[in-house]
Amino acid sequence: MTFNDLNLSPAILKALSKENYTAPTPIQEQSIPAVLAGRDLLGCAQTGTGKTAAFSLPIIQLLSEQKTIPNTGRRIRSLILTPTRELAIQIADNIKAYSQYTDIRCSAIVGGVSQKVQERALNQGADIIIATPGRLIDLINQKRIDLQHVQILVLDEADRMLDMGFIHDVKRIIAKMPSKRQTLFFSATMPPEISKMIKSILVNPVKVEI
Ligand code: AMP
Repeated sequence: MTFNDLNLSPAILKALSKENYTAPTPIQEQSIPAVLAGRDLLGCAQTGTGKTAAFSLPIIQLLSEQKTIPNTGRRIRSLILTPTRELAIQIADNIKAYSQYTDIRCSAIVGGVSQKVQERALNQGADIIIATPGRLIDLINQKRIDLQHVQILVLDEADRMLDMGFIHDVKRIIAKMPSKRQTLFFSATMPPEISKMIKSILVNPVKVEI
């Protein structure tokens, strides 16, 4: 299989070829069609399998297909939650590379850096936000971020977010966005608390295991 078989736009294919990606990895082959079809996804996969592109490429595709409403500015249409600042920055760098020939904009919202700088980026508008739960909760509490237009939520490394004590924050963040949305859930392990969460937030998910 090649990326050409996955119904991705010429702008995305051009970026992939610039990044020297020749063929999709197994998780990308399985996930991309399901996400493009609007399905929820449950992925049991480790980092290093090409997981980031598996969820990012179809998100970029779906968002760039949408007509934006005039005079509304850029709204956050996808939120990616990830346990660490390093992962968030890495995902944001990947998304910037994959979307370089589209007009999709993304921004990382992480702790340990100036909140002012991140607020400025938010004010300039972003379609996709990649965040760690702690900093995002701060912005929510200060009413400086609007998640009312999120259509696609990604929970990346959900088991690590649980281990790091973020589960309560994650639940509070989910409560701030529309319940009618597409959810992509990734976890390397499935402890009981994670299984419970999957049952409560995923609707008839496509399961992908690597
Ligand atoms: P990830 O599992 O998302 O952290 O990806 C692991 C590494 O593989 C990253 O450096 C990606 O840039 C790279 N990668 C992801 N998908 C592909 C692909 N289809 N072809 C070549 N490299 C890839």
